[in-house]
Amino acid sequence: MTARIINGKTIASRLTEAIAQKVNLRLKQALRPPGLAVILIGDDPASQIYVSKKRKDCEQVGFHSVAYDLPENTQESELLALISTLNADPVIDGILVQLPLPDHISTENILESIRPDKDVDGFHPYNIGRLVQRTPLLRPCTPKGVMTLLESTGEAIRGKDAVIVGASNIVGRPMTMELLLAGCTTTTAHRFTDNLAREVSRADILVVGAGKPKLVKGEWIKSGAIVIDIGINRMPNGKLVGDIDFDTARERASWITPVPGGVGPMTVATLLENTLYAAEYLH
Ligand code: NAD
Repeated sequence: MTARIINGKTIASRLTEAIAQKVNLRLKQALRPPGLAVILIGDDPASQIYVSKKRKDCEQVGFHSVAYDLPENTQESELLALISTLNADPVIDGILVQLPLPDHISTENILESIRPDKDVDGFHPYNIGRLVQRTPLLRPCTPKGVMTLLESTGEAIRGKDAVIVGASNIVGRPMTMELLLAGCTTTTAHRFTDNLAREVSRADILVVGAGKPKLVKGEWIKSGAIVIDIGINRMPNGKLVGDIDFDTARERASWITPVPGGVGPMTVATLLENTLYAAEYLH
């Protein structure tokens, strides 16, 4: 079997196009455009790339986009003061603080200071709690984007065995909650999992976000599985690879996402989707 490719780039650009049309419609109705504030602290090159992509896409769909580039030595109190101003700003629907933050700033304090109805990254404990309790509001972008990719295959996923590799707060855990909400029987594997190959081999739907290049071997994968690779790893030669050995996995899977061009573009498109949702329904 050779897997069909889930083309995240195409699916994301369709979603982005639909968002741009809705923004246009708002403007025609004399409504304001959705507003997103993106805050970057320090000069981590990977974060700079992600943030500039987010800001560019925001402008492309006609959002009101506000950029804050703050120095590495910004104090937590200064960042909290900025978030408090944005929380009160009526033209801002979403506030995104690019992670990771410098060590002297508490990620927890910052994420919890964002008003839940402006938490378009979906990381606030309120939004995570709503997802856990099956009443999601603003949902974490990467897992929600993965659900859009799964839907695009047209395959039924309710009742399927889903295995998620990775258990971080922003990827693996909310991914597990999304798949549980969709009616899958879920298993979450992580760095302490005894036998990763055994867990992976049970998956009808496999979603991997561990940050370890080619961690998952093609021969572990159940024949016909839907395989989603969230991992983004830059190799010494500059090439980007995922967490799954793509060439061997595609021989066993029925559907598979490439890296790059799979989950990555969906994350940004879903951020725009969340911001539009906040503007339309929460504000
Ligand atoms: P993280 O380091 O916070 O978490 C990694 C998780 O993987 C942990 O739960 C850990 O227990 C697990 N893990 C590590 N080694 C393992 C192993 N050998 N076996 C099983 N589990 C193992 O990372 P993160 O922030 O969750 O990101 C994971 C990956 O996803 C990274 O490559 C990151 O770049 C990528 N990512 C991609 C997108 C996107 O839009 N495509 C968004 C966010 C993160």
